[in-house]
Amino acid sequence: MNETILVSGGAGYIGSHAVKQLLNLGYKVIVLDNFSTGHFQAVDPRAMVVVGDIRDKEVVKAVFENNKISGVMNFAAKIIVPESVKNPLAYYDDNILGVMTLLRACNRYQVRNFVFSSTAAVYGTCKDEAITEDHPLSPESPYGFTKYVAEKLLIDAEKAYGIKHVIFRYFNVAGASKDSSIGEAHPVETHLIPVTINSCIYNRPMQVFGNDFNTRDGTCLRDYIHVLDLAKAHVLGMKHLLDGKESEIFNLGSQTGYTNLEILKTVESVLQKKINYTFGPRRAGDAASIVASNSKAKEILGWTIENTLQDMIQDDYNFRMKNKNLYGSKRYKVPYGYKKRLLAYNSNKNVLSLLEDIEKEDEKILTNIKKVNNL
Ligand code: UDP
Repeated sequence: MNETILVSGGAGYIGSHAVKQLLNLGYKVIVLDNFSTGHFQAVDPRAMVVVGDIRDKEVVKAVFENNKISGVMNFAAKIIVPESVKNPLAYYDDNILGVMTLLRACNRYQVRNFVFSSTAAVYGTCKDEAITEDHPLSPESPYGFTKYVAEKLLIDAEKAYGIKHVIFRYFNVAGASKDSSIGEAHPVETHLIPVTINSCIYNRPMQVFGNDFNTRDGTCLRDYIHVLDLAKAHVLGMKHLLDGKESEIFNLGSQTGYTNLEILKTVESVLQKKINYTFGPRRAGDAASIVASNSKAKEILGWTIENTLQDMIQDDYNFRMKNKNLYGSKRYKVPYGYKKRLLAYNSNKNVLSLLEDIEKEDEKILTNIKKVNNL
């Protein structure tokens, strides 16, 4: 297979899984990542790596000019709801400007296939049992709104420039690779499953945010999907576009809702541990209940779900136990063998000084994440 796919955010949690699956199927992959939250260790050694930001026109231009790109998968984004409430401008900047820069390059270099990570947060609070893709959009957080705007950009870009898209609206993603080599690894975890698993591993108390929602036990209800199943959908989405099929929007969820308390109970039963939790106040921007209808992705892409909630918990736990040291504060250190791949695509930049900047920036990011999450 000769197709080269540009994966922005390919060093991140979901992107790194998609990169691996694309490579396994014979695609060539270029990862473009600013490593603000990504990890060098997460990028499959078969992929080329460009250290750069999707908002940086020069870097994006260089990548498109020097490679025959068949399609773009964009994972690069800021994704934390409460952080977006505290710092919306950073979200508008990354999540909208970044997409605009990529779309401009696609138009200029005639790349017609764009797979985009969106979110169930574009729907806001939903009344339906399971949300279908034509449910009205009413995002409740700046994060959800930036993804909503980016979706509109893609729709307009198709009308104006013929750039086709597959938009995936993610529900709650969890889990890790079966060999525990890649998984969710943020300096501070904010999502429920990793927070709960860390609470078990480190005997750390945790909070369940809100118990007065209109759900079966008063805690928020969410739809969880394994990262491997999610990544698989992206590969199918890219193939869909490369086969010349129409633009589509798909939900990616399991069509099953679990309340926050049910998640805690399932973690307790899978890991055979007791969780030390209390109820805290509601978290800003949280909708009460979100469950996906996933029949469209199944029907049109032939997507299937292979992993259960128990698999997500077990795989995430295995990953955390195996990588306690690998994903430490030195995660930006470039492992031997990577430098060559990096420099090949950054010949006019001093990559190592770039990495030093990132490392400094990392401290700031960590402080901010801690601040907005009251940690
Ligand atoms: N949540 C919680 N305690 C935590 C982290 C998350 O109670 O330490 C709740 C959160 O308020 C929401 C649900 O878990 O109701 C899922 O949140 P998460 O951040 O995992 O994903 P989101 O649905 O916001 O994308």
